Amino acid sequence: MSIEAHPFSLYNDPAFDMAKEQFRVISEYMNIPSDERDRLFYPKRAISVSVPIHKDDGTTAVYQGYRVQHHLSMGPTKGGTRFAPSVNMGEVAALSIWMSWKCALAGLPYGGAKGGVCVDVRSLSPRELEALSRRYMQEMIPFVGPKIDVMGPDMGTNEQVMAWFMDTYSMYVGYSVNEIVTGKPIYLGGSLGRRESTGRGVAFLVERALDVLKIDAEKCTCIVQGFGNVGAIAAASLYYKAGVKIVGLSDAYAAFYDAKGLKFEDFEEHMRTNRDLSNFTGAPRISPEDMLIQPCDILIPAAVDRVIHGGNAGQLKCRILAEGANGPTTPEADAILDQRWNDIFVIPDILCNAGGVIVSYFEWVQDLAAFFWNETEVTDKLFRILDHSFQAVVRKAKTEKISHRTAAMAIAVERVRKAKNTRGLFP
Ligand code: GLU
Repeated sequence: MSIEAHPFSLYNDPAFDMAKEQFRVISEYMNIPSDERDRLFYPKRAISVSVPIHKDDGTTAVYQGYRVQHHLSMGPTKGGTRFAPSVNMGEVAALSIWMSWKCALAGLPYGGAKGGVCVDVRSLSPRELEALSRRYMQEMIPFVGPKIDVMGPDMGTNEQVMAWFMDTYSMYVGYSVNEIVTGKPIYLGGSLGRRESTGRGVAFLVERALDVLKIDAEKCTCIVQGFGNVGAIAAASLYYKAGVKIVGLSDAYAAFYDAKGLKFEDFEEHMRTNRDLSNFTGAPRISPEDMLIQPCDILIPAAVDRVIHGGNAGQLKCRILAEGANGPTTPEADAILDQRWNDIFVIPDILCNAGGVIVSYFEWVQDLAAFFWNETEVTDKLFRILDHSFQAVVRKAKTEKISHRTAAMAIAVERVRKAKNTRGLFP
């Protein structure tokens, strides 16, 4: 009896349903026999921990933490740790599955993983954030390791959190283990170019898409949803290096739009002294939903999942949809975008935002070898991998007359499937 017949309630979540529907579409397209599907799709390990900490007011608070390791067939598992109020087992499981496809498409020797804590980091003091980070890693020690599962950053975590993770693990084993996490500060075994890698990768792929469409970057307009590590760096690369005009920008608190072009420097200046864009007054405001459907050449959702859905996909007015976020487009939106294939060039998430995990892989390799590369080496190698994946996806989509997402997923799923089938099923 397949799991399909007895669905896991453990993963109840819209993001998980979305990952499942995407996989169903791909398995149908690839004619994967039904008895292989559950083995490829369902996560191998799902860990749930309670994470108690002392609050500054002397009370004790308990947070719920998770880690899902999707498959162990190609090497250790790899993926970020998210501190956000949306975190639950289903969301983390969906994100771990997307990490598997992302790593496989880039040719990295990893299965996917993802973890997180359900918490609003803005409600924590710096000391409480340190306590939560350390205790979460402490609870995960039996389940992680440089050859088992390697964490990295994601929403709500940063280099400091990665340094606390590394320190907590290292104190436990008794020596410094740089390779236990990636996304660390440079002087603790971090890689040059890791912080910029996801955003730079998004900008690089946008430029590849502009080449295919024969559009001049300097004549382009761009809307970016999300002003975190991915959105801000993608926007900065396109604005300063490629000469793209940024017409829309938003974070979780405010959205801004001006068809004549926003002064990106003012946003950067504001963020040097503020946590978010909520009290920025230097540009006209727009509702976050309306911003997504304004005319532009490049639309970059670089925030949360499911923002392009059945209700707005038909109204998008972009030429390129570059998915900086994980899972920004629902399967209902995909069905609409499939009809608009001639109109909108989609760079699917597992390709578009892969720069982060690719440079995380470089960081792990450098830590294991204790031999470090300069930034040009890192960026050249990153762009080579992204270019190779981009070409493979565009070629397959063209030859088989399928969407870029289907092409990207089919390449990735086939690699994992081959690894599993060749290793065989034990006993
Ligand atoms: N959080 C990033 C992602 O979703 C990177 C994870 C990592 O570096 O391990 O791809």
